[in-house]
Amino acid sequence: METQMNRMSWVAYRDRIQRDACPVFLPVGATEQHGPHLPLGTDALLAAAVCDGVARQVGGIVAPTFAYGYKSQPKCGGGNHFCGTTSLDAQTLSLQVRDAVREFARHGVTRLIVVDGHYENQWFLIEGIDLAMRELGPSHPLRVMRLEYWDFLTEQTLAGVFPDGFPGYALEHAAVMETSLMLHHHPDLVRLDLIPDDPPADFPPYDMYPTVTAWVPPSGVLSSARGASADKGRLMAEQVAASIAQAVRREFGLA
Ligand code: ZN
Ligand code: MN
Repeated sequence: METQMNRMSWVAYRDRIQRDACPVFLPVGATEQHGPHLPLGTDALLAAAVCDGVARQVGGIVAPTFAYGYKSQPKCGGGNHFCGTTSLDAQTLSLQVRDAVREFARHGVTRLIVVDGHYENQWFLIEGIDLAMRELGPSHPLRVMRLEYWDFLTEQTLAGVFPDGFPGYALEHAAVMETSLMLHHHPDLVRLDLIPDDPPADFPPYDMYPTVTAWVPPSGVLSSARGASADKGRLMAEQVAASIAQAVRREFGLA
């Protein structure tokens, strides 16, 4: 069954929403440097791939991706100073999300899942959802789930992907997790021969404005992607999709 909203007619979409109460997935990413070996669209492509994997399991529809995100931060995305990184102000992102949620509600969507692929977006997605829910009022049947897909990785999966220990999600930018997932979903977009050799970034426990760009490895990669593989990507993609599908079924009462 078709999973992509932008490939469906409005009539086919309406029937799935209004007859089947089909869950709708909204991927949110960023246009952000991911080192010399991954494309600028990595966060958006991975959020969309996660949504597609889950939508197939629960009979859902994936809405077009929000492909611009909140400003890249040095400690988790390399920072906003890289050429190509193209970011939104917080309010712009929140209001886009608010508007989309309100539109889905108008269509009759009652099960909406917002899937974030860019860490910096988190609070502004919450704000956009909250503004829409306040406007819709407590009696509206729409319920929204919001998540960062990596939070679903289990200890067991992480142990398989990081045999030498998991460095933490902040330093995982353009590193083993994202590179492996891209090798699984979009191998044609990964340049393994260009993975840089920078040591892991070492940040102080505070931020400075303007950004101290010297804190960030010039490649934009915060820890090595050397251990990445398509097999690790498949392991993570399958486990995360199954776990998110389970959560969606549980929260929305799907069989
Ligand atoms: Zn990323
Ligand atoms: Mn990001």
